[in-house]
Amino acid sequence: MGEVNLSQVMDRNRSFVDRVIEESGQDIRQCYQCAKCSGGCPGSSAMDYPPNQIIRMLMLGMKEEVLNSHTIWVCMGCNTCTTRCIRDIQVAAVMDTLRQEAVRAGYVDKAKLVLSFNDSFLWTVRTFGRLFEPGMAMINNMKTGNFMKDMQFGLPLMLKGKASMFPHRIKGRREMKKIFEKVQGGK
Ligand code: SF4
Ligand code: SF4
Repeated sequence: MGEVNLSQVMDRNRSFVDRVIEESGQDIRQCYQCAKCSGGCPGSSAMDYPPNQIIRMLMLGMKEEVLNSHTIWVCMGCNTCTTRCIRDIQVAAVMDTLRQEAVRAGYVDKAKLVLSFNDSFLWTVRTFGRLFEPGMAMINNMKTGNFMKDMQFGLPLMLKGKASMFPHRIKGRREMKKIFEKVQGGK
Protein backbone atom coordinates (compact mmCIF):
# COMPACT_ATOMS: atom_id res chain seq x y z
CA MET A 1 0.00 0.00 0.00
CA GLY A 2 1.36 3.43 -0.91
CA GLU A 3 1.35 6.65 1.11
CA VAL A 4 -2.14 7.71 2.17
CA ASN A 5 -3.30 11.22 3.13
CA LEU A 6 -5.72 10.31 5.91
CA SER A 7 -7.69 13.55 6.20
CA GLN A 8 -8.35 13.55 2.44
CA VAL A 9 -9.57 9.94 2.23
CA MET A 10 -11.69 10.33 5.37
CA ASP A 11 -13.57 13.24 3.83
CA ARG A 12 -13.77 11.77 0.32
CA ASN A 13 -15.33 8.49 1.39
CA ARG A 14 -17.45 9.66 4.29
CA SER A 15 -20.72 8.74 2.56
CA PHE A 16 -19.39 5.23 1.89
CA VAL A 17 -18.48 4.72 5.54
CA ASP A 18 -21.84 6.10 6.70
CA ARG A 19 -23.63 3.71 4.35
CA VAL A 20 -21.67 0.69 5.66
CA ILE A 21 -22.54 1.72 9.24
CA GLU A 22 -26.21 2.10 8.34
CA GLU A 23 -26.55 -1.09 6.26
CA SER A 24 -24.62 -3.32 8.65
CA GLY A 25 -26.25 -1.74 11.69
CA GLN A 26 -22.83 -1.65 13.34
CA ASP A 27 -21.26 1.48 14.78
CA ILE A 28 -17.64 0.74 13.92
CA ARG A 29 -16.61 4.05 15.53
CA GLN A 30 -16.95 2.24 18.87
CA CYS A 31 -14.02 -0.06 17.97
CA TYR A 32 -11.12 0.01 20.48
CA GLN A 33 -8.71 -1.77 18.14
CA CYS A 34 -8.13 -4.43 20.78
CA ALA A 35 -7.74 -7.01 17.96
CA LYS A 36 -9.62 -9.73 19.85
CA CYS A 37 -11.66 -10.27 16.68
CA SER A 38 -8.50 -11.00 14.70
CA GLY A 39 -7.03 -13.16 17.46
CA GLY A 40 -9.90 -15.62 17.14
CA CYS A 41 -10.50 -15.40 13.41
CA PRO A 42 -9.91 -18.83 11.78
CA GLY A 43 -9.37 -17.20 8.40
CA SER A 44 -6.90 -14.49 9.40
CA SER A 45 -3.80 -16.35 8.14
CA ALA A 46 -5.27 -16.30 4.61
CA MET A 47 -6.32 -12.64 4.79
CA ASP A 48 -4.30 -9.69 3.56
CA TYR A 49 -5.61 -7.55 6.46
CA PRO A 50 -6.94 -9.05 9.71
CA PRO A 51 -10.50 -8.07 10.68
CA ASN A 52 -9.49 -5.33 13.16
CA GLN A 53 -7.41 -3.65 10.44
CA ILE A 54 -10.35 -3.75 8.05
CA ILE A 55 -12.44 -1.98 10.71
CA ARG A 56 -9.68 0.60 11.21
CA MET A 57 -9.25 1.17 7.47
CA LEU A 58 -13.01 1.58 7.21
CA MET A 59 -12.99 4.18 9.98
CA LEU A 60 -10.34 6.03 7.99
CA GLY A 61 -12.47 5.95 4.84
CA MET A 62 -10.08 3.73 2.86
CA LYS A 63 -12.79 2.49 0.51
CA GLU A 64 -10.64 1.21 -2.37
CA GLU A 65 -8.27 -0.71 -0.10
CA VAL A 66 -11.11 -2.32 1.85
CA LEU A 67 -13.22 -3.28 -1.17
CA ASN A 68 -10.12 -4.58 -2.99
CA SER A 69 -8.98 -6.71 -0.06
CA HIS A 70 -8.93 -10.51 -0.05
CA THR A 71 -10.15 -10.40 3.52
CA ILE A 72 -13.80 -9.69 2.77
CA TRP A 73 -13.91 -12.75 0.47
CA VAL A 74 -11.87 -15.03 2.73
CA CYS A 75 -14.23 -14.30 5.64
CA MET A 76 -16.56 -17.28 6.03
CA GLY A 77 -19.08 -15.57 8.27
CA CYS A 78 -18.39 -17.85 11.25
CA ASN A 79 -19.13 -15.03 13.73
CA THR A 80 -16.17 -15.85 16.00
CA CYS A 81 -15.10 -12.20 15.78
CA THR A 82 -18.59 -11.08 16.72
CA THR A 83 -18.69 -13.22 19.86
CA ARG A 84 -15.23 -12.00 20.93
CA CYS A 85 -15.76 -8.28 20.39
CA ILE A 86 -15.62 -6.31 23.64
CA ARG A 87 -17.62 -3.48 22.04
CA ASP A 88 -20.45 -5.67 20.75
CA ILE A 89 -19.60 -4.90 17.15
CA GLN A 90 -20.86 -7.60 14.78
CA VAL A 91 -17.76 -7.72 12.61
CA ALA A 92 -19.22 -10.52 10.49
CA ALA A 93 -22.17 -8.27 9.59
CA VAL A 94 -19.72 -5.55 8.53
CA MET A 95 -17.89 -8.07 6.32
CA ASP A 96 -21.19 -9.10 4.77
CA THR A 97 -22.07 -5.48 3.98
CA LEU A 98 -18.61 -4.93 2.50
CA ARG A 99 -19.06 -7.91 0.15
CA GLN A 100 -22.34 -6.46 -1.07
CA GLU A 101 -20.69 -3.07 -1.50
CA ALA A 102 -17.83 -4.64 -3.45
CA VAL A 103 -20.23 -6.35 -5.87
CA ARG A 104 -22.31 -3.18 -6.26
CA ALA A 105 -19.23 -1.08 -6.93
CA GLY A 106 -17.87 -3.55 -9.50
CA TYR A 107 -14.94 -4.95 -7.45
CA VAL A 108 -15.79 -8.44 -8.63
CA ASP A 109 -12.49 -10.04 -9.71
CA LYS A 110 -11.78 -11.56 -6.30
CA ALA A 111 -15.49 -12.27 -5.85
CA LYS A 112 -15.96 -14.47 -8.91
CA LEU A 113 -14.97 -17.80 -7.34
CA VAL A 114 -16.93 -17.09 -4.16
CA LEU A 115 -20.05 -16.02 -6.08
CA SER A 116 -19.84 -19.03 -8.38
CA PHE A 117 -19.53 -21.39 -5.39
CA ASN A 118 -22.45 -19.61 -3.71
CA ASP A 119 -24.64 -19.94 -6.83
CA SER A 120 -23.78 -23.64 -7.22
CA PHE A 121 -24.55 -24.32 -3.56
CA LEU A 122 -27.90 -22.50 -3.77
CA TRP A 123 -28.84 -24.30 -6.99
CA THR A 124 -28.67 -27.70 -5.30
CA VAL A 125 -30.63 -26.48 -2.26
CA ARG A 126 -33.30 -24.90 -4.46
CA THR A 127 -33.57 -28.01 -6.67
CA PHE A 128 -33.37 -30.84 -4.12
CA GLY A 129 -34.22 -29.05 -0.90
CA ARG A 130 -30.78 -29.79 0.55
CA LEU A 131 -27.13 -29.77 -0.39
CA PHE A 132 -25.95 -32.30 -2.99
CA GLU A 133 -22.16 -32.05 -2.85
CA PRO A 134 -21.19 -33.87 -6.10
CA GLY A 135 -23.75 -31.83 -8.07
CA MET A 136 -22.54 -28.62 -6.50
CA ALA A 137 -18.91 -29.46 -7.33
CA MET A 138 -19.75 -30.30 -10.95
CA ILE A 139 -21.77 -27.13 -11.51
CA ASN A 140 -19.10 -25.02 -9.86
CA ASN A 141 -16.39 -26.62 -12.01
CA MET A 142 -18.40 -25.90 -15.17
CA LYS A 143 -18.98 -22.28 -14.12
CA THR A 144 -15.30 -21.71 -13.39
CA GLY A 145 -13.89 -23.75 -16.30
CA ASN A 146 -11.90 -26.03 -13.91
CA PHE A 147 -13.67 -29.13 -15.17
CA MET A 148 -11.64 -31.74 -13.27
CA LYS A 149 -11.08 -29.82 -10.02
CA ASP A 150 -11.38 -32.09 -6.91
CA MET A 151 -12.77 -34.93 -9.04
CA GLN A 152 -10.17 -37.29 -7.53
CA PHE A 153 -11.98 -37.04 -4.18
CA GLY A 154 -15.36 -38.14 -5.54
CA LEU A 155 -14.92 -41.92 -5.64
CA PRO A 156 -13.11 -42.29 -2.27
CA LEU A 157 -15.81 -40.17 -0.59
CA MET A 158 -18.57 -42.26 -2.15
CA LEU A 159 -16.87 -45.55 -1.18
CA LYS A 160 -16.68 -44.33 2.43
CA GLY A 161 -20.34 -43.33 2.38
CA LYS A 162 -19.50 -39.62 2.81
CA ALA A 163 -21.06 -38.59 -0.49
CA SER A 164 -23.79 -40.03 -2.66
CA MET A 165 -23.88 -40.34 -6.44
CA PHE A 166 -27.57 -39.40 -6.44
CA PRO A 167 -29.25 -36.48 -4.65
CA HIS A 168 -31.57 -36.96 -1.69
CA ARG A 169 -34.73 -34.89 -2.09
CA ILE A 170 -36.66 -33.49 0.85
CA LYS A 171 -40.48 -33.60 1.05
CA GLY A 172 -41.02 -29.84 1.37
CA ARG A 173 -39.44 -28.84 -1.94
CA ARG A 174 -42.46 -26.73 -2.88
CA GLU A 175 -42.09 -24.71 0.33
CA MET A 176 -38.38 -24.41 -0.31
CA LYS A 177 -39.10 -23.06 -3.78
CA LYS A 178 -41.43 -20.46 -2.28
CA ILE A 179 -38.70 -19.33 0.10
CA PHE A 180 -36.32 -18.86 -2.84
CA GLU A 181 -38.98 -17.00 -4.82
CA LYS A 182 -39.57 -14.66 -1.90
CA VAL A 183 -35.89 -13.99 -1.28
CA GLN A 184 -34.55 -13.99 -4.83
CA GLY A 185 -37.59 -13.17 -6.92
CA GLY A 186 -37.54 -16.68 -8.45
CA LYS A 187 -34.00 -16.44 -9.93
S1 SF4 B 1 -16.78 -14.02 10.58
FE1 SF4 B 1 -15.10 -13.70 9.15
S2 SF4 B 1 -13.81 -12.14 10.09
FE2 SF4 B 1 -15.15 -12.96 11.69
S3 SF4 B 1 -13.95 -14.59 12.67
FE3 SF4 B 1 -15.22 -15.55 11.07
S4 SF4 B 1 -13.89 -15.59 9.26
FE4 SF4 B 1 -12.98 -14.12 10.70
S1 SF4 C 1 -12.83 -7.07 18.83
FE1 SF4 C 1 -14.26 -5.36 18.48
S2 SF4 C 1 -13.31 -3.62 19.54
FE2 SF4 C 1 -11.72 -5.17 19.30
S3 SF4 C 1 -10.68 -4.63 17.36
FE3 SF4 C 1 -12.28 -6.12 16.85
S4 SF4 C 1 -14.05 -4.89 16.29
FE4 SF4 C 1 -12.64 -3.54 17.41
